[in-house]
Amino acid sequence: MKELIKKANILLESLPYIREFAGRTIVIKYGGNAMVSENLRSNFARDVILLRYVGIKPVVVHGGGPQIGKTLEKMGKKTRFVQGHRVTDDETMDVVEMVLGGKVNKEIVALIQKHGGKAVGLTGKDGGLFFAEKLLIEGTQEGDGPPEIIDPGKVGRVTTVHPEVIHRLDEGNFIPVIAPVGVDTDGNTYNINADSVAGAIASALKAEKLLLMTDVPGILDEKGNLVSSLDREALTKMVATEVVHGGMIPKVDAAVSSLENGVAKVHIVDGRVDHAVLLEIFTQTGIGTEIVP
Ligand code: ADP
Ligand code: MG
Repeated sequence: MKELIKKANILLESLPYIREFAGRTIVIKYGGNAMVSENLRSNFARDVILLRYVGIKPVVVHGGGPQIGKTLEKMGKKTRFVQGHRVTDDETMDVVEMVLGGKVNKEIVALIQKHGGKAVGLTGKDGGLFFAEKLLIEGTQEGDGPPEIIDPGKVGRVTTVHPEVIHRLDEGNFIPVIAPVGVDTDGNTYNINADSVAGAIASALKAEKLLLMTDVPGILDEKGNLVSSLDREALTKMVATEVVHGGMIPKVDAAVSSLENGVAKVHIVDGRVDHAVLLEIFTQTGIGTEIVP
């Protein structure tokens, strides 16, 4: 009996959070190592379904870099990276679209459906959800040459978001699952960083939270210790001093811009932890780094 009462108490602990977040949108960037194990994948799917059932509106944006890399490798196609962006020629873009918008996206949709949720997969093209433009990167091609403008090919950034299709899906209790592939007004397709897409979607939806899942415990300081809470100003300093670099940069940019656009809080959490989503949303302390305005 005691055990059962304990269970009831655990359920009750989530009540204040359910009350606070019911009817609100939480955008979740899902990717990297949270996607590699069967166990983590099904726990993620069930977490998201639970959110939906208690009245919270999860919107999933996923990455898939490792899956793209594997496919390109099988095809014998080499790619290089400039400042974390995969240089994407037309042939590579076809592979990116097939892997992200096809395989990875449908796997996540199928998993949510399998566990009893309702999900619909989308790219930026579907329902005109978002538009993109070509990204030009300022940097050095190789070694220590002078900085120049580098054309990474079909790599884009989000220009506008039209969330109508998300609202329509919401009316039917469908969980949107979004692949970071977008199109410009001329019909060119672009590969976009999933963190950036998640940030743009969270801003457009005025989400309650943006939750970025990654393969580290959160933002680490210069000693490698987890920073559990910080504001935009402290974060900008960490970028300037290069304590934050590489793949963490697009997350920080997404965090800063979504906070500026009315998102209440951003969390960077370890996707390798089972039930990272529920732990972050339904517990007092959370698990990763919380970024506040
Ligand atoms: P994903 O987008 O799949 O989560 P990325 O490799 O793109 O993975 O981004 C996460 C990576 O960012 C970490 O694995 C880490 O190597 C890097 N990183 C750079 N600076 C920091 C920092 N200050 N704290 C934590 N991770 C950092
Ligand atoms: Mg990344």
